Amino acid sequence: MISIQNINKWYGDFQVLADCSTRVSKGEVVVVCGPSGSGKSTLIKCVNALEPFQEGDIRVNGISLGDPKTNLPQLRARVGMVFQHFELFPHLSITENLTIAQIKVLGRSKADAMDKGLKLLDRVGLLAHADKHPGQLSGGQQQRVAIARALAMDPVVMLFDEPTSALDPEMVNEVLDVMVQLAHEGMTMMCVTHEMGFARKVADRVIFMDAGQIVEDCAKDAFFGEVGARSDRAQHFLSKIL
Ligand code: ADP
Ligand code: MG
Repeated sequence: MISIQNINKWYGDFQVLADCSTRVSKGEVVVVCGPSGSGKSTLIKCVNALEPFQEGDIRVNGISLGDPKTNLPQLRARVGMVFQHFELFPHLSITENLTIAQIKVLGRSKADAMDKGLKLLDRVGLLAHADKHPGQLSGGQQQRVAIARALAMDPVVMLFDEPTSALDPEMVNEVLDVMVQLAHEGMTMMCVTHEMGFARKVADRVIFMDAGQIVEDCAKDAFFGEVGARSDRAQHFLSKIL
């Protein structure tokens, strides 16, 4: 579903991604972790074509981002993205947040978009808040709306960039629960997160990045298994967060 092939990316003279390659199969859940500044956000933004890269190619569902003929807005519409800061439209109601892109980007009727939006809102347990505005919801609730909004576009993959790191601790689990449910339903997911409990529960693979490189890319059991199986850098990182 996602194929990242030898990506190199620079910000000016600074190489932020160095020869990164990996693949994510349909239905697979891959957790990306690593120290702050290691390039995790940049890598997943490249998958969503929010950031350009200078070398290599990324294919999403078989479509090359590097091909000038690719319709990037159309492709981006099918790649769900959930950020650290929920980025809901503050001036729109929750239902408007859930329907606007369905109507404007996918051309759905207002009724169809509303139907879909409300079903997803129900699924994340927030149907009662449909007519509120984002500012009236807690951070955890806003993040669940953001996930529902991404799902409303029928994404082929979901990308998460530290979706719980800006939340108060008591709200982390309500968001992780939604993500776990999605994983169990077979959604293809690439999640930047340091929630190692989540990784242990649902990840198929764990990628560890450091200084713009993918240092580890291995099955979950190998990553969390014997100490000797990990690189020193991954070991050092894990010992600080676990
Ligand atoms: P992570 O998500 O792992 O914390 P990022 O992908 O956000 O890392 O950033 C990787 C590196 O690239 C950092 O050193 C950061 O300062 C730098 N960086 C990120 N965005 C930009 C930008 N727009 N211009 C210049 N440098 C950037
Ligand atoms: Mg980041």
